[in-house]
Amino acid sequence: MTDRSTTAPQETPQPADWHTLSQERIEQMLRTGTGGLPEAEARRRLAQYGPNRLAPPKRRGPLIRLLMQFHNILLYVMMGAAVITALLGHWIDTGVLLMAVVINAIIGFIQEGKAESALDAIRAMLSTHATVIRDGVHREIDAADLVPGDLVVVASGDRVPADLRLVAIKDLRVEEAALTGESLPVEKHDEAVAADAPLGDRYCMAYSGTLVVYGQACGIVVTTGTATEIGKINQMLAGIQSLTTPLLRQVDRFGRVLALAILGVSAATFALGTLWRGHAPSEMFMMVVALAASAIPEGLPAIMTVTLALGVQSMARRNAIIRRLPAVEALGSVTVICSDKTGTLTRNEMTVQRMVCAGHVFDVGGVGYAPVGDLSIDGRIVEAEHYPALALAIRAGVLCNDARLREESGLWQVEGDPTEGALLVLGGKTGFTQRLGDEAWPRLDSIPFESQHRFMATYHRDADDAPWIFIKGAPERILDMCVAQLNHDGERPLEVDYWRRMATDTAAQGLRLLALACKQAAPLDGGLSFADTESGYVLLALVGIIDPPREEAMHAVGECHRAGIRVKMITGDHAETARAIGAQLAIGVGKPAITGAEVAMMDDAALRRVALEVDVFARASPEHKLRLVQALQDNGQVVAMTGDGVNDAPALKRADVGVAMGMKGTEAAKEASDMVLADDNFATIAAAVREGRAVYDNLKKFILFMLPTNGGEALVVIAAILFELTLPLTPAQVLWINMVTSSTLGLALAFEPAERGIMNRRPRPPGEPLLSGFFVWRVLMVSLLMMAGALGLFLWELNGGTGIETARTMAVNAVVVSEMFYLLNSRFILSPVASLEGLTGNRYVLLAIAACIPLQIAFTHTPVMQAIFGSTDLTALEWGKVLAAGLLVFCVAELEKFVIRRTRLASRLNQA
Ligand code: ATP
Repeated sequence: MTDRSTTAPQETPQPADWHTLSQERIEQMLRTGTGGLPEAEARRRLAQYGPNRLAPPKRRGPLIRLLMQFHNILLYVMMGAAVITALLGHWIDTGVLLMAVVINAIIGFIQEGKAESALDAIRAMLSTHATVIRDGVHREIDAADLVPGDLVVVASGDRVPADLRLVAIKDLRVEEAALTGESLPVEKHDEAVAADAPLGDRYCMAYSGTLVVYGQACGIVVTTGTATEIGKINQMLAGIQSLTTPLLRQVDRFGRVLALAILGVSAATFALGTLWRGHAPSEMFMMVVALAASAIPEGLPAIMTVTLALGVQSMARRNAIIRRLPAVEALGSVTVICSDKTGTLTRNEMTVQRMVCAGHVFDVGGVGYAPVGDLSIDGRIVEAEHYPALALAIRAGVLCNDARLREESGLWQVEGDPTEGALLVLGGKTGFTQRLGDEAWPRLDSIPFESQHRFMATYHRDADDAPWIFIKGAPERILDMCVAQLNHDGERPLEVDYWRRMATDTAAQGLRLLALACKQAAPLDGGLSFADTESGYVLLALVGIIDPPREEAMHAVGECHRAGIRVKMITGDHAETARAIGAQLAIGVGKPAITGAEVAMMDDAALRRVALEVDVFARASPEHKLRLVQALQDNGQVVAMTGDGVNDAPALKRADVGVAMGMKGTEAAKEASDMVLADDNFATIAAAVREGRAVYDNLKKFILFMLPTNGGEALVVIAAILFELTLPLTPAQVLWINMVTSSTLGLALAFEPAERGIMNRRPRPPGEPLLSGFFVWRVLMVSLLMMAGALGLFLWELNGGTGIETARTMAVNAVVVSEMFYLLNSRFILSPVASLEGLTGNRYVLLAIAACIPLQIAFTHTPVMQAIFGSTDLTALEWGKVLAAGLLVFCVAELEKFVIRRTRLASRLNQA
């Protein structure tokens, strides 16, 4: 929901029994009519009644949110240690421990706030729209701006935006589970019902939050916002899920196990040190506290969340709005993308290019939606009115049409279905511009277009009051309903073969097909019904409409292919059209296209085979999409599937990543989806896959950075105790390192951009465990390396006669500097970073390092710090040695990557 003005809502006009009142009475009470409200009145009412929005769920206040940051087992351990050190009178350690806890909580607080606001912005992008009639004109507005008295149009797939008294209904079926719990759709009618009718039986009402699953209707808004039935029970509709994904849960569990393991190791170290090595218990205890504090990756959960939130935010910037966070992870392992054609792979800017009548083929000139262009036969310009079949076909196309063509400052725009818009433009080019509701040829009834039945029909009366039914739709459907065709010299029997041949020929040029037909008869029982569409029509023309592929979709398909992702086109369009457009996009080249009818004939086993092989599925319906997703998943594929209609919801839910269209998609499709494409563009899916891979990479990189740095510090301490060495780090120093580096350095990796070549890799195997063999190896290797650097330097210095304080100061600096260098290594998991791009490509990494440097200088050279931590000044030579220890880590880590790259390449070559 958007955040708009928060005028206190007043009570919507009473009474509550709107369902008992007639349409006239309601219009009178709400001072509205067939043209809807005037815009000015709507604005006044919006100020009076407040926005049409449900009360947002209660948020935790900032103080509670801050306190909740401390509610984390890792921080509990650290706070417990602080209490005990205080009891023992080690105030410095207590202070450092508490500082580390507070710094972490503050970082967590800020990060959570960032993540929440990223999701809020995304919620706002998903606000619902409503079609309203104001001043007699249809317009799309934000559903929050609806007011009582507004006249609203709802169609299949819409969420009802407010409580409506229905006034004009065309086969409306509404699923009211959100309100009544009943999942079977209810058929609506417009007659008032008894006062005591329960909600589910108020057939003349459509309630806010319920879902239109079929048909169309107009309704008068009677109540809005919290005054609606759903507002009364104060129930928010399913929104975006909370900030968690399977991976985050996995990490969370891992964090808890790790905390326990660290406590176990600490206890064992304590026992060893006191019982075996004979250290004083209070000294050992302090050491163990430092050990635990340094080993615990307390920043892990917060940084994982912020990495994910940043990924979601950058996807939203590229028009991919994530509704369910786990989709971010799934995107990275997608192996097949099944995409709609119209509007996603193509531009959805339709232009009629060809009209095929009996005996004549007309070419239509002009570009875009401007109604300017000529008709010609073989290059010779002709007038439409000289060809009766053509003239009637154009009339049929304009009348059997719900779109509107508008000119705004010289720019022509289509409102509604672009296929229908193309027919209006054709009408404009040939001088036939009748609009809905005009005096001549008034429309008395209609059957709206639904992709299941692939046609639309309207019933009109002409100037002589004679009845006409016009029908337009997919040629196969319309041919079945026709018995005759209109030739130049009148009606003749239908030449089915001619029309089939012309249809295939037109489709093979990549043109989208419609057939137009009519019959001079009134509907059988007053209103148009499916019985009226069975037969008796006269075929007028075939229409060939061009809808060119999107340029960027062509690139994106190529990118997907390189990334090891198959792209399949699943379209409602004709097989030949689909194949031709597919070929232009490099989808299914040289392979057959399969139609929905053929899919329907196959059993599941056959479909499993075909689903992998074939890339173009034409004349497919939503149920075919569902079976295809299942077949592909049975083949072990991870499937992203697009959809827009209400019936696409099951396939979207079933797919690993359900992708809904933000512009032409229905609310039902959006709600069933994991991701919404704000621009309906295929290229956005490819961009989201890329981003999904990058986010997963960053999560991995962060863990690969965090665990070895904690491990390295802990190992230094454990090794010293085990080998009975002088402790290279005092407890306070260990805590200092932890405070300076943990969370702060690693956070920079959340901002890491996608690695170059990320789309040249194969998809990540789904369910790949995070802690793979490689992970364990890398963590162990770097931990040991860091320990070796710091401990080695410390022992070397002691042996050389350096004082213990200096040696310790060098060890502390060696650990911190090694972490800074290893942060650079961690930018790329396997690629080398020893390049300008590798070293400077992420400015947050440089900033994090730059922030640590003054802290270490202060630690080493300021008297206060020296007094607290027992550090001393270092000479330039000593600093040089510290840097060398860091460089050692850097070089060995790069060498390891090099060896792994070489071995992987060699084994790949061997396999080949
Ligand atoms: P995609 O699934 O790729 O978006 P599509 O938009 O072509 O495909 P549908 O909208 O289901 O799929 O259309 C299927 C067929 O129905 C079209 O090829 C066309 O013949 C016919 N058709 C499309 N729009 C209309 C309409 N408004 N009125 C009548 N027939 C239509």
